[in-house]
Amino acid sequence: MFIELTDHLRCPVDHEESYLVLLPERMQERSVREGRLGCPACGRTYEVTTGILDLGGEVPDPPPSTLLEPEPLAALVGLSGPGGYLVLVGRPAARWPEVADLTPGVGLVAVNPGPDVADVPGISVVRSGMLPLKSRSMRGVVLGSPYGGEPRWVAEAARVVLPGLRVAGEGRVPDTGVIELMATAGGVWVGTPRR
Ligand SMILES: [Zn+2]
Repeated sequence: MFIELTDHLRCPVDHEESYLVLLPERMQERSVREGRLGCPACGRTYEVTTGILDLGGEVPDPPPSTLLEPEPLAALVGLSGPGGYLVLVGRPAARWPEVADLTPGVGLVAVNPGPDVADVPGISVVRSGMLPLKSRSMRGVVLGSPYGGEPRWVAEAARVVLPGLRVAGEGRVPDTGVIELMATAGGVWVGTPRR
């Protein structure tokens, strides 16, 4: 996990949004390899093991493939210019090096990417039953299947993305009270949070 991502994390427990405090045990340059994150609000701690932050919760197995391949994914989220973070949830994170080439200077966060994606420089891997990120902090969120069709995950994505920026998903078209749709086609949708 990239150490600077710590500033954007929140406790996954359903209490008032709280930051997490990092207690690193082993660092490799700017990557936390082993350590713990503690929540000052509820006192829970979460482990970082081989660079992967595990916040617990139910995590579905990712399907074998995704419609959100690197090029369409990058076109849908439409980031221009470096800075900030793009969140890839589920299978779309498997091809993150290609996404990185298409979005230079943007940090990548993989949430529940499956066992094939290791935490290495260029990608921060998180395992969690929700998006453990601060509200209005991310430049884009991509929800692979089944997340893109689940209202709870769509609401989470809408919560964490910065105002006016985009959420793209694979699955059933979301409630337009949550996402203001820009386009839908072939099982994929994109829009901005309605606030
Ligand atoms: Zn907490």
